[in-house]
Amino acid sequence: MTHCRGMARRARVVIVGAGFGGLGAARALARSEAEITVIDRRNYHLFQPLLYQVATAALSPADIAWPIRSLLRGQSNARVVMDRVCGLDRAGRFVLTEDGRRFPYDCLVLATGARHAYFGRDAEWAPVAPGLKKIDAATEIRQRVLLAFERAENGEDAAERASLLTSVIVGAGPTGVELAGAIAELARDALARDFRRIDPRTARILLVEAGSRVLPAFDERLSVKAQAALERLGVEVRLGVPVAECTAEGVQIGAEQISARTIVWAAGVMASSAGNWLGVETDRAGRVRVAPDLSVPGMMASTPSATPSSSPPATAGRCPELRRRQGRWAGMPGD
Ligand SMILES: Cc1cc2nc3c(=O)[nH]c(=O)nc-3n(C[C@H](O)[C@H](O)[C@H](O)COP(=O)(O)OP(=O)(O)OC[C@H]3O[C@@H](n4cnc5c(N)ncnc54)[C@H](O)[C@@H]3O)c2cc1C
Repeated sequence: MTHCRGMARRARVVIVGAGFGGLGAARALARSEAEITVIDRRNYHLFQPLLYQVATAALSPADIAWPIRSLLRGQSNARVVMDRVCGLDRAGRFVLTEDGRRFPYDCLVLATGARHAYFGRDAEWAPVAPGLKKIDAATEIRQRVLLAFERAENGEDAAERASLLTSVIVGAGPTGVELAGAIAELARDALARDFRRIDPRTARILLVEAGSRVLPAFDERLSVKAQAALERLGVEVRLGVPVAECTAEGVQIGAEQISARTIVWAAGVMASSAGNWLGVETDRAGRVRVAPDLSVPGMMASTPSATPSSSPPATAGRCPELRRRQGRWAGMPGD
């Protein structure tokens, strides 16, 4: 999402967020005259598509996180700032941060991504059902999964063991599907011969989806194939039942209570607070409506005067390549 103004002098471009979108924008401006400031609350860029590998101990956190500074080391017109943006002074054209700093901009790129949403139950459900968007969450999920096997090995009570060996993944979009499959592989293959009192292959992995099929955003034939592949791995797929309750003891789906010590949330996302900062209308998921050139309608915007010949990439979607393309588009320099 971009917010700019036309000008003759050297432009100060502030990019908030060094995910796929923000880095794409910064790199697109590498050969421009602009002074670029990239602000991120973290000092590393996270490759989110491999978070589930960290959550299931196939990769370590360092494998999927790279320092933003080293990624932009060779780009002399870019400066990196680690700070959390908390708002904008729209009249004065400053980005405001939690550390109390103010960064002036002529052109602003907001690429702050999304966070999990728990259908209004965030305070109760987030602590018991972490979502997979950050490194910390991935290591937390890894710890919960691995320690559940350890506790089951030590436990004497059959019901307690069964609960420890049950994982519920809420939401059968790509993240839920990947994670369910990865936990099943962990239990069936990697851990299968490492325990003496329990058989990790008996672990229950449930994938719960309120909609009528897994991967609802994909072609229906892919949903059928993905569900069959999951079931071959031993994942129980429950469709058409929303989760009614999540506690440390388990989940309630429809009228059924499932006792489970590991619950992972993959059911919904909300946009970041960027819409509030801009003071513009957002939809229920906090998303801002943008023009095809990614500028925010109604805000002073200098769309590139060297009008690009191709159409800009669409503004919705999940794919990192799409985000990179959107970022590059947002960063296309004008005069
Ligand atoms: C588990 C998982 C698996 C995925 N798998 C796939 C896949 O297989 N294929 C696929 O195509 N896509 C996948 N995706 C989606 C893909 O990762 C996202 O579409 C992509 O990361 C979005 O890029 P972005 O730049 O918009 O946001 P992000 O990558 O989320 O970057 C946002 C950046 O903004 C920073 N930020 C946020 N708020 C602030 C603030 N207030 N101040 C300063 N900085 C801030 C964050 O620290 C972050 O660095 C997956 C996502 C997840 C979570």
